[in-house]
Amino acid sequence: MPKELLLQVTPEIAANESLLKDHLSKQIKVSVQEIQHVSILKRSIDARQKAIKINLKVIIYLKGEPFQETKIELPLYKDVSSAQEVIVVGAGPAGLFAALQLIELGLKPIVLERGKDVRGRRRDLKAINREHIVNEDSNYCFGEGGAGTYSDGKLYTRSKKRGDVTRILELLVAFGASEDILVEAHPHIGTNKLPKIIEDIRNKIIEFGGQVLFDTRVTDILVKNNEVEGIVTQTGDKILANKLILATGHSARDIFELLDKKKIFIEAKPFALGVRAEHSQELIDSIQYSCDYRGDYLPPAPYSIVKQVNGRGMYSFCMCPGGVIAPCATSPGEVVTNGWSPSKRDQATANSGIVIELKLEDFKPFAKFGALAGMEFQKSIEQKAWHLAGETQKVPAQRMIDFTQNKVSADIPKTSYVPGTTSVEMGQVFPGFLSQILREGFKEFGKSMRGYLTNEAILHAPESRTSSPVRIPRDPMTLEHLQIKGLYPCGEGAGYAGGIISAAIDGEKCALMIAEALK
Ligand SMILES: Cc1cc2nc3c(=O)[nH]c(=O)nc-3n(C[C@H](O)[C@H](O)[C@H](O)COP(=O)(O)OP(=O)(O)OC[C@H]3O[C@@H](n4cnc5c(N)ncnc54)[C@H](O)[C@@H]3O)c2cc1C
Repeated sequence: MPKELLLQVTPEIAANESLLKDHLSKQIKVSVQEIQHVSILKRSIDARQKAIKINLKVIIYLKGEPFQETKIELPLYKDVSSAQEVIVVGAGPAGLFAALQLIELGLKPIVLERGKDVRGRRRDLKAINREHIVNEDSNYCFGEGGAGTYSDGKLYTRSKKRGDVTRILELLVAFGASEDILVEAHPHIGTNKLPKIIEDIRNKIIEFGGQVLFDTRVTDILVKNNEVEGIVTQTGDKILANKLILATGHSARDIFELLDKKKIFIEAKPFALGVRAEHSQELIDSIQYSCDYRGDYLPPAPYSIVKQVNGRGMYSFCMCPGGVIAPCATSPGEVVTNGWSPSKRDQATANSGIVIELKLEDFKPFAKFGALAGMEFQKSIEQKAWHLAGETQKVPAQRMIDFTQNKVSADIPKTSYVPGTTSVEMGQVFPGFLSQILREGFKEFGKSMRGYLTNEAILHAPESRTSSPVRIPRDPMTLEHLQIKGLYPCGEGAGYAGGIISAAIDGEKCALMIAEALK
């Protein structure tokens, strides 16, 4: 019988197949020649002690025991070119995985995406970085693959259902992601690898009879007697169907405004907001691994930190080891930060959102906007940052200790944020209570992670698109909008996901519910 084993080894042994076989042969007392194959089932890092260990769960096949290399295959998709049509608005993880699931269920998705395909999108990212031009339909949040395409591609999630998570990870592997994502405790794909995977998903949707239309912004939803009839695009074209998955993400402000104007029920939702901090990766490695030099076998270290400050949660968000800070505005006249990493996470800097949980009462000054109060609060901060930094895509920046001491930094060294920085007193970007929590919080962080609170770390503001400021309420059983039949609010923009994996899971769920309703 193949033997499953939990063990702790050095990073070097974990990284080297033949060293691992040697180690296992001693542990289970057989000769190395007797070991036919070792598969790693789970891998995580234990950095609690000075001598860092790798936790492994392995399965060992000895000679003569049945072992077959398994290849993860795509589901058996059907040709749906003449099947019932379902409109999917948005080609982010929620929309794309909804489309794949619809095909699996014998329904034809028509995916409408305001942005360009992944290749076309690159030119617009360059324009933001180099020329400070923000295309409102094609940027770091909008375009094929959605907000996750040019990201770190971290695939961890708080989603509790292991089965659902594994299914999405396996689909990603079948579309070309490394099998490592099935094994790592904290899997990620990397910005350089995501576009090809997204392209392959799109090609599969088209191959099996679905449609994917780029440069197609939905500007109206046709509703009659509280039931969906179809949509209108920016060119005035109508597409009719009575089932619609609305997966437009947390930055589609025009969609929230449209729903509000049409009196389609939406509500304000708390989200989190703060800054993006950048340290050298070397410093984060030395803090997290308690070493001067990470060595050849450990990955660039991540960190995760949470504190309660003045009764509010302040925490790291979307931490990107070996990554870059990206300009993620979706309209001219605003500045927004987020972060990405390549698959090797080999950049010299580590960045992380450091955000504070907001409450609905924080949006009171914007109460006249009703359900859009949180969105207007978010927008006002992004616009303030734009004005403060010089009305380009430059970002307000400050050294970390200077920020805690309300002192404008004398200089800001070059950071990974390509459009550039403007030295400001960061407190001006936020309402006073938020600046105060951030100041206190960084001092607390410095106590937990010695070395973290340093003037070598640069803060960039704001990190404001952490999750949707609006929820589009739906029936928890059918996932249909509470008021409009045939409308399926989906993914992060609707308030039902936070990250690539949970958005993809939600997309699949909405597709399943539509198939159920059509039975
Ligand atoms: C730089 C960056 C890094 C990130 N890193 C990670 C990470 O490492 N791991 C992680 O889990 N998450 C990460 N995220 C968050 C993650 O990308 C989102 O949680 C996820 O993409 C949400 O998926 P979604 O499909 O719900 O929405 P989105 O991905 O936002 O997709 C919505 C899509 O709808 C389209 N759309 C909007 N309005 C319209 C309209 N009117 N008509 C037609 N189309 C429209 C948009 O163009 C977009 O493509 C990152 C986000 C950014 C910006």
